[in-house]
Amino acid sequence: MKIRRFIIIFAVIAGICTVPAACAGNLTVINKIYKIVCDIESGLDKPEDLKEKPEKKYIALTFDDGPHPKYTGEIVNILTEKNAPATFFIVGDRAELHPTLLRRIKKANCELGNHTYNHVDLSKISRNEFISQMEKCSQAIYNATGEYPKVYRPPFGRISKANEQYIDGKMKKILWTVDSHDWNTPDKNKIVRQVVSSAKNKAIILMHDFYSQSVEALPDIIDELKKQGYEFVTVSELIKLWELPERMEYFIN
Ligand code: ZN
Repeated sequence: MKIRRFIIIFAVIAGICTVPAACAGNLTVINKIYKIVCDIESGLDKPEDLKEKPEKKYIALTFDDGPHPKYTGEIVNILTEKNAPATFFIVGDRAELHPTLLRRIKKANCELGNHTYNHVDLSKISRNEFISQMEKCSQAIYNATGEYPKVYRPPFGRISKANEQYIDGKMKKILWTVDSHDWNTPDKNKIVRQVVSSAKNKAIILMHDFYSQSVEALPDIIDELKKQGYEFVTVSELIKLWELPERMEYFIN
């Protein structure tokens, strides 16, 4: 608890220090996001309904690269039917094409995260390009849903140290602990086995709302994990439940 408080205080101070520099540029969206993150940090004490129950296991499903005109809606239908909230890491230029799908994701009690505007490798672009990629994606999500995302996932899991330091304290970086490999196999049973055999309490599962096999595997994944006693949460809910070991790289602040 003490370590967490220290980390939060440090993150807020670091954030405050960056505001004058940010104001010097055209960074209005990032600053709005920064304020939202501060609001979350100040409310990090676990709310009553999210208090961790020792007998419970929690897991966060995440879907990258959408919205896809066919598969995103199908996945939202399955999550709604099975009452399993998840997190979608959204690509900005696709969000602009399908804003209705973003509203459906939000209405299904799911979370929306930033996955850049054009799905670029954040380890290979300049500071200005990085800011543009993040802001344009966040703005597309805001335009569709009225809310800025509080979390982001770098495409390919890669981001340069400089870019990561810049965004630190403004948005939370979320990677994953289990790769479903839905992107490199058409076999839905293989995907189900991969996820179920690697699942652990407080795991983050990487999937994609971009392939038919992901849609096919999802009902079995949810049913099997529920049978094993898992409760499905969004990544922001998972963060609130964690007593975080500092080494967990998918929690940055
Ligand atoms: Zn991606």
